Amino acid sequence: MSAAEVAAPKFSTLSLDEKLDRLAEVAVKVGLGLKEGQELIMSAPMDALPLARKITEQAYKAGAVLVTTLYGDDPSTLARYKYAQDASFDYAPVWLQEGVANGFRSGAARLAIAGANPALLAQQDPKKVSRANIAASKAGKPAMELITRHEINWTIVAAATPEWAKLVFPGEPEDAAVAKLWEAIFAASRVNVDDPVAAWKQHGERLKQRVDFLNAKRYAALHFKSADGTTDVKVGLADDHLWAGGGTTAGNGVYCQPNIPTEECFTTPHKDRVDGVVKASKPLSHQGSLIENIQVKFEGGKIVEATATAGEDVLNRLISTDAGARRLGEVALVPHNSPIAESGILFWNTLFDENAASHIALGQAYSTCLIGGEKMSAEELAKLGANESLIHVDWMIGSDAMDVDGIAQDGTAEPLMRKGAWV
Ligand code: ZN
Ligand code: ZN
Repeated sequence: MSAAEVAAPKFSTLSLDEKLDRLAEVAVKVGLGLKEGQELIMSAPMDALPLARKITEQAYKAGAVLVTTLYGDDPSTLARYKYAQDASFDYAPVWLQEGVANGFRSGAARLAIAGANPALLAQQDPKKVSRANIAASKAGKPAMELITRHEINWTIVAAATPEWAKLVFPGEPEDAAVAKLWEAIFAASRVNVDDPVAAWKQHGERLKQRVDFLNAKRYAALHFKSADGTTDVKVGLADDHLWAGGGTTAGNGVYCQPNIPTEECFTTPHKDRVDGVVKASKPLSHQGSLIENIQVKFEGGKIVEATATAGEDVLNRLISTDAGARRLGEVALVPHNSPIAESGILFWNTLFDENAASHIALGQAYSTCLIGGEKMSAEELAKLGANESLIHVDWMIGSDAMDVDGIAQDGTAEPLMRKGAWV
């Protein structure tokens, strides 16, 4: 057999089934780094069943001892809003979330497939949506903490689903919209190349260089300023902050890529040292609600004013979840020339949109973004400026009109990004 005959077939010549298999392989090998004998707990929308099955196959091929998938279903979620008694909205399956947390503690990896309709709950009562989210966050806290502390290997990948695809490509027939969204997911997830596993290794090394550069700088703050002045904010960084990006070694010793795709370098801001105004550069889909044209004002780290042209009620309920919901838990730098940004597609999905633009996140900080943070108590983390909340919601502020300066400990500013690109 000649070398040409054994080479992998070109991505464009593969069937959808084969392309899904490639994405599944990247999810398991690169995203999770799943270990022989490890258990996998997966969550997936019903519409992502073909990808969930491919991931299950790849996981068993990689040596998984057991794959358990929890399926979500958009029409069933809507049925709750339509017919359930009022008490339902303060309720969450605590027993299930405890079981998931126990699974993680006993060694399971976690994979989430994103793909639910981003506008599913847009027409529902924001009060009920907020109550249901709070109940779900409280029940999910023990499991979520193991994830935000990177105790276990975990990842998120996306599947093109009909309602999501129609929102991203309005005006296209459903089949064409789904096909286009799949291609956009494959490109953004870097699986449309001959050797995706090698491409991811190279990409991870480039992100690591950027992270090392930022960590060596020990900036006191970042200054974001948009050309029209609607964003002009100084984001103080937590004492002993650490930049992260690309892959990470989880507490269980497994090297994983927590998001596919990922283009960001991110760290922990200081919860009390954020001042100025911020305007979102993209709309935000949060748990099925759409929030558009967010504008907020920060004083001493806290949001003191928040407006939006759509979903303002949802936004105000979100930042009232608890004391930490008005403060930042993450700041991330993403160049405007990342492949996702260059596609020009508005995904209405944070996994993609946050990797197309610099962003900030309200709520819970990642303790792994502080030197020695994974071993610290809540009090020790708070002392360094790390925020605590039931929520962690990223929203996009970067664009090709955004300049970012790094502010040194002595107050001098140096350019980091100009017009959204690294200097
Ligand atoms: Zn982020
Ligand atoms: Zn985030």
